[in-house]
Amino acid sequence: MRHIHTKTRVLLAFAASLAIISPSPARAADGEDYSVKPTAPVSQTTQLSSSAPSMEMPEIKYELGKQPLKQHPGGASNEATALNFPISKGLAGVSMFLKPGALRELHWHANAAEWAYVINGHCRITIIDPEGHKEIKDFGPGDVWYFPRGHGHSIQGIGPEECHFILVFDSGYFSEFATFSASDWIAQTPSEVLAKNFGMSASAFKDFPKKEVYISQGPVPTALPSDPPPDSDNPPPLTHKFSLGGKIPTVTAGGSMTLVDQKQFPISTTMSGAILKMKPYAMRQLHWHPNADEWQYYIKGRARMTVFGSQGRKITREFGPGDVGYVPMGYGHYLETVGNEECEMLAVFNSGTYQEISLSEWLANTPKQLLETNFGVSPSIIDSLRKGAGLFSKPMGPVSIPNE
Ligand code: MN
Ligand code: MN
Repeated sequence: MRHIHTKTRVLLAFAASLAIISPSPARAADGEDYSVKPTAPVSQTTQLSSSAPSMEMPEIKYELGKQPLKQHPGGASNEATALNFPISKGLAGVSMFLKPGALRELHWHANAAEWAYVINGHCRITIIDPEGHKEIKDFGPGDVWYFPRGHGHSIQGIGPEECHFILVFDSGYFSEFATFSASDWIAQTPSEVLAKNFGMSASAFKDFPKKEVYISQGPVPTALPSDPPPDSDNPPPLTHKFSLGGKIPTVTAGGSMTLVDQKQFPISTTMSGAILKMKPYAMRQLHWHPNADEWQYYIKGRARMTVFGSQGRKITREFGPGDVGYVPMGYGHYLETVGNEECEMLAVFNSGTYQEISLSEWLANTPKQLLETNFGVSPSIIDSLRKGAGLFSKPMGPVSIPNE
């Protein structure tokens, strides 16, 4: 055992009393501890003041749109996972492009459900569930799909233009060793076994791909019948499709929010999402989500987000089209548009129930005298504080907040 100096022991006890060494940790859905350790080991600390020590917030921004695309015949993709964007342990995402006829092959995800939003173009999904129900549906801009964890599915571009969609998964580790492709499995299985499985001759399997296909270019599939005959299908009890673009948004002077969670889209029991549109110089007010991490994809315009991580920690980053942002569960945050353009952002949560608590709503519902005691400011300021809540604040002209 290493000898611990008496003075160091006292400092350790003091630090523990400040909850610096053993803070009540903020936990993500996976139980990951996001509390950040002091920059220097406590044993090397010679002085501790009562102010918070220097601590680092994890990086909240990943420039997904600037990463190289993995190219395949007919399609391309890149991804933000816990491996390249360490904060994003609870959610990960993929930006994918499919040309007309290009097929993201039959596959499933062992450890995550998939929630997707179509930005441009059209595609067709197929999905099968454990009861053998299948669904085949076409998607266009503004449409959302949800595939429960482990259910087999495919996605195909149906034209006329290239389809671009964002896939979000409720595990930051959905990709490595957790996405299973039909072609990969067949390639790894001896042809004699395949012959026995399918009741065919082994030679029938000699021309199958020798490795994972991932995306394959083929013809554009024929149009779906607008009214399929009832006995030709085995539809699932709950549909995998929701038209988020067709939903009426909640509109305020500063912006709008269109939300879908399992209340409107019952199959999506583990994820929810929203499109936020913020007016120039408006802000998305200070709030947090008690039950979920938030994964963001910026579609249009620019915004600055600040995330508050307790104990004096905060981080501000500016985001533009193609950027991904991340807010761990319970962390306070707000956004302000940058420039003269409206900012449009996709926000996805790893809970089927959307929850938020707004700071202004909290204060509006707290007794005045309590707030005077809490903040030590004049009653007239407290009256202004308690005016009430909104998703967005009205445009108020540029607010200068330095990047940190
Ligand atoms: Mn998938
Ligand atoms: Mn939020």
